[in-house]
Amino acid sequence: MTPMRTAIYPGSFDPVTYGHLDLIERATRIFDRVIVAVLRNTDKPGLFSIEERMGLLREACQSFAGVEIDAFDGLLVDYVRSKGADVVVRGLRAVSDFEHELQMALMNRTMAPEVETFFMMTSAGYSFLSSSLVREIASFGGPVHDLVPPHVEVALRRKFQSSL
Ligand code: ADP
Repeated sequence: MTPMRTAIYPGSFDPVTYGHLDLIERATRIFDRVIVAVLRNTDKPGLFSIEERMGLLREACQSFAGVEIDAFDGLLVDYVRSKGADVVVRGLRAVSDFEHELQMALMNRTMAPEVETFFMMTSAGYSFLSSSLVREIASFGGPVHDLVPPHVEVALRRKFQSSL
């Protein structure tokens, strides 16, 4: 019997977009268990709290089998080991993602040679899509229904209405 393969998909997810969901869905076809892990970054408060981001992710991933939502702080490689995983999934959109991702992957490999970073190309329709773009459009009341699931759109509207 082959051992169960767990992958960690870390990120800010502030908020989750269709780009992330496309990657998660594709990752579930490769790995038995995918843990989507929200980074608790104290330097960057972000728009949504960590708990809000996890709630939005949980609702968005309801229909995917083998997906869990979690949060972590500290070193990613320590978290990966604590979960008994040895794969990190990351997405690549444009060339501009590459340098940062290469730097992180090589640094993580130096610290934990047994952990492999697994890169997946964006789907063509989502290559321009990022959480920061979604936040910016929503902050001006622009349309985000093609970019995020309906419950995330509602959460964005609420967030920006309450800050007006
Ligand atoms: P970070 O803040 O660390 O960049 P994000 O939450 O924005 O994290 O993204 C997490 C991961 O998902 C990153 O590897 C990022 O490249 C990937 N990602 C984000 N949006 C897309 C997209 N539209 N297509 C493919 N990958 C994406």
